[in-house]
Amino acid sequence: MHNIDAVSELHDYRLPPEQVPETIVETLSIRQRDALKTRIKDLLKQQNAALVAHYYTDADLQLLADETGGCVSDSLDMAHFGHRSDAETLVVCGVRFMGETAKILNPEKRVLMPDLDAECSLDLGCPIDEFSRLCDQHPHRTVVVYANTSAAVKARADWMVTSGSAIDVVNHLKHNGEKIIWAPDKYLGDYIQKNTGADMLIWQGACVVHEEFKGIELELLRQQYPHAMVLVHPESPASVIEQADLVSSTTGIIKAVRQLDAKQFIVATDNGIFHKLQESAPDKMFIEAPTAGKSATCKSCAHCPWMAMNSLTKLANTLATGSNEIFVDPDIMERAKLPVKRLLDFSNRGNQIAGDA
Ligand code: SF4
Repeated sequence: MHNIDAVSELHDYRLPPEQVPETIVETLSIRQRDALKTRIKDLLKQQNAALVAHYYTDADLQLLADETGGCVSDSLDMAHFGHRSDAETLVVCGVRFMGETAKILNPEKRVLMPDLDAECSLDLGCPIDEFSRLCDQHPHRTVVVYANTSAAVKARADWMVTSGSAIDVVNHLKHNGEKIIWAPDKYLGDYIQKNTGADMLIWQGACVVHEEFKGIELELLRQQYPHAMVLVHPESPASVIEQADLVSSTTGIIKAVRQLDAKQFIVATDNGIFHKLQESAPDKMFIEAPTAGKSATCKSCAHCPWMAMNSLTKLANTLATGSNEIFVDPDIMERAKLPVKRLLDFSNRGNQIAGDA
């Protein structure tokens, strides 16, 4: 359990609403969309480039990635994809830390992104200077960070984990007698702490999308759909996690809807995932977990404002101009590779590993 003095030094690192952009989804006519998709396919070939898209991006981008031999996945697998692909350029449709992780694991490739302003509230809520200060104050704690962090924060860490691997890694560290600094997601940190009993000093950041899911409204929705199974991403608040039939990563949620017998699912994660859910189990019904209702309002309303910055128009521009390239300081890149590789080696030793946000 935490030491009270240590916990009291942690501030609230959740992003205030005024710093969260509006979620703006590009609107195009069918003709405009088709023309852009054709142009993007041509440009991908010309540039020997592969499209790597996250499950939370627009369905058109996911379809394009699948149709052109790219990949649609969680952030760790997106970064891995570079090893499987001969493409010289990876175009990462996601948020900045995903582009950075792709670069860290594939330094020889050019990594582009449609919009470099596509950030993440967890990454923004964990500034390297303040995080480093906390680590310096607790030199005997092992530093474990979630994938949703900057390259600089990863470079300061001992381990990087994903939501699918965090419990296994923390259990392993606990059995070695290690105490932990965890960053940046406080809900995921609490969930891991509860499941492992490890001594964790937990950074107080949050995902602006998952934090908005509401326990009270979820209870009401479950009454309307009594046969629905509730699938929850562990970046959600405890009141939502408590009601889950399954708590899992994005990849785990997609796998579950294929395997489980239920016909209806209430899903608490970014609604961009519904494209893959519907594709994976077309005969099943998917219902968004509530982010607002009688007792609440939402700002992101189950769709990440930064993921929504990835549009067909920006993707075509990036490919045509080579703009928005990701660069990571070589020294940071070398150091950030260590905690990522540690996770990969851990999984190769036969430990279970699954995807992330
Ligand atoms: S959904 Fe949340 S965790 Fe994922 S990129 Fe957006 S803000 Fe970050």
